Amino acid sequence: MNSSAVQRPFSTDCLDASKSGGERSYDFKPFKFINNMPMPVIGSLPTKPAVPAKRSIPELLAPLDRIASSSSSLVANHGAQFKSGGQTCELPRYLFIGPKGGDDMIRVGIFACIHGDEPEGVHALIQFLSILERKPELATGYCLFVYPVCNPTGFEDRTRHARSGKDLNREFWNESREPEVRLLQSELVAHSFHGIISLHTDDSSQGFYGFAHGATLTKNLIEPALQAAEQFLPRNGSETIDGFRARNGIIRDSYPGMLTAPPKLRPRPFEIILETPQAPPSYLKEAALVAALRMILTHYREFIAYAPNL
Ligand SMILES: [Zn+2]
Repeated sequence: MNSSAVQRPFSTDCLDASKSGGERSYDFKPFKFINNMPMPVIGSLPTKPAVPAKRSIPELLAPLDRIASSSSSLVANHGAQFKSGGQTCELPRYLFIGPKGGDDMIRVGIFACIHGDEPEGVHALIQFLSILERKPELATGYCLFVYPVCNPTGFEDRTRHARSGKDLNREFWNESREPEVRLLQSELVAHSFHGIISLHTDDSSQGFYGFAHGATLTKNLIEPALQAAEQFLPRNGSETIDGFRARNGIIRDSYPGMLTAPPKLRPRPFEIILETPQAPPSYLKEAALVAALRMILTHYREFIAYAPNL
C-alpha cells in the first residue's frame, strides 16, 4: 500500500502514523533512529527503491507476543506452518480467553488480512487485543480465536493475492489447494465457531459497511456494529456497494469461496464482514473497526443471555 515507509525516518510523517494509510510501526524505531542520527539535509534523501521492502510479520505482531508472554488471558500460538514456493511460512494465531461468563464459553473466530494489501484489520486487532488485555471484562464469556494475518505472503509482499497468485477469499470450501486456506478451513472445522468476523478494507468505498450472513440474528448484530463505527467514519449509504445491493450499509449477498463457516455446520454461526474505507487516516479506521468489534461482543453476549427465555 504505502511504499513511503523507507523514507519515514527522515520525515515528519513518523510523528503522525495516522497519515500513513495503514503503515504503522509499533516499536517506534524511527524515533530511536532520529535520536541517534544527525538529521540529513533534504537534498540527501535516499531514493526510493523500485521494489518496496517486504513487510515483517514478526515485527508487526511483536506487541501481541510481548503481551502474550506475561498475560493470563492472551496465548500466542505460532505452531501453524505451511510451505509457499519452498519457503516455510506461518499463519499466526492468538487465543484470548475472557473471564468466565454464565454458561459455556462462546467461541468467536476473528480473521484479518486475507487480502494482503489490507493491513488495517491487523492493526485494529492488535489494538483490540491490547484493549482486552487491559479490560478483560469486555470479553467475558468469550474465547476469541484471532487470526490477524490470514494471507502472510500477501502481507509481506503488499499484494491482495497470496504469492501463489490466488485471491484466498475466493478459495474456501471448493477443494482449494492453497495451504493457507486449508489451514484456515481446518481451524473453522475444529472450533465450530458461534460467530465469525472478518475485517477488510475497500479502496473504492467512501464509507464503512458490512456483509451479514449466517444466523438470522446476524442482522441484529451488524446494525449496532455499524452504528458504533459511525462514531468515527461515515456509513456507506449507497444502494449498490461493491456490485451488490445494499441497505443501510449492509449487504446480504456474497462472493463464492469467501471465508465462511463450514457449509454443513448447523446451527449456522453469525457471520459478519466489516469493511472500512481505505482513504481515512489509520487511527479512524482502527477506531471504527475496534468499536464495531466491541459492539458485536456486547450484543451477542446479551442475545445468548436472553435466548433461553425467548
Ligand atoms: Zn478484502
